[in-house]
Amino acid sequence: MIIAIDGPAASGKGTLARNLAKHFSLNYLDTGLIYRAVGAIVLEKGKDPSDPLSATTAAQTLKNNDLDRDDLRSEASAAAASKVAAIPGVRAALLAFQQHFAASPPGAVLDGRDIGTVVCPKADMKFFLLASAEIRARRRVKELQDRGEEAIYASVLSDLRARDERDSGRSTAPLKPASDAFCLDTDSLNAEAVFKIAVETIEERFASNKRSGS
Ligand code: C5P
Repeated sequence: MIIAIDGPAASGKGTLARNLAKHFSLNYLDTGLIYRAVGAIVLEKGKDPSDPLSATTAAQTLKNNDLDRDDLRSEASAAAASKVAAIPGVRAALLAFQQHFAASPPGAVLDGRDIGTVVCPKADMKFFLLASAEIRARRRVKELQDRGEEAIYASVLSDLRARDERDSGRSTAPLKPASDAFCLDTDSLNAEAVFKIAVETIEERFASNKRSGS
């Protein structure tokens, strides 16, 4: 079973993906971490994350342990990630790893921006999570403060909006729901409610596939 979860930053993708992976005993891949690692490496080298050569070289030479760096959750890595992610050579270099992960037994939950559209277009179930920028910024501020980091709502909100714009506006693999994705607005839902709806939706989908023999 492959479950694809896409959506903008702080829409609740990661929490839902981790909960579903645990519930259905599947592997879990946070694909944002891969782009963050590429962005962080380019920054560390003192290069511009929008430079195609620097970013593509970093993506092509990425190693598994780069995903363990402790600076990947920073806002600087997030901003750099969304810049490297707009470069077609970067996306091409990272595609096979994600697809191989998804195809490995017993199956996987992947979250990102293009999982249902590009990485796993044949996923058994696709979710697209939405939430207003204001609610997402409030969630991100809380997350940063819970980690002991300073966070200013206005700057988190403007960073999120800039990232949304880059992610939705790029020409390669833009952020958008797959035509067969189940879209869920999480503005007024907490993590447990989102999880409950997702599990029910998956179970209904599998029961109806079973009835129709597909
Ligand atoms: O999910 P997260 O916010 O950690 O992702 C960081 C950035 O990486 C996103 O803003 C996006 O630009 C990029 N990304 C992507 N495709 C994915 C996952 C992340 O373009 N599948």
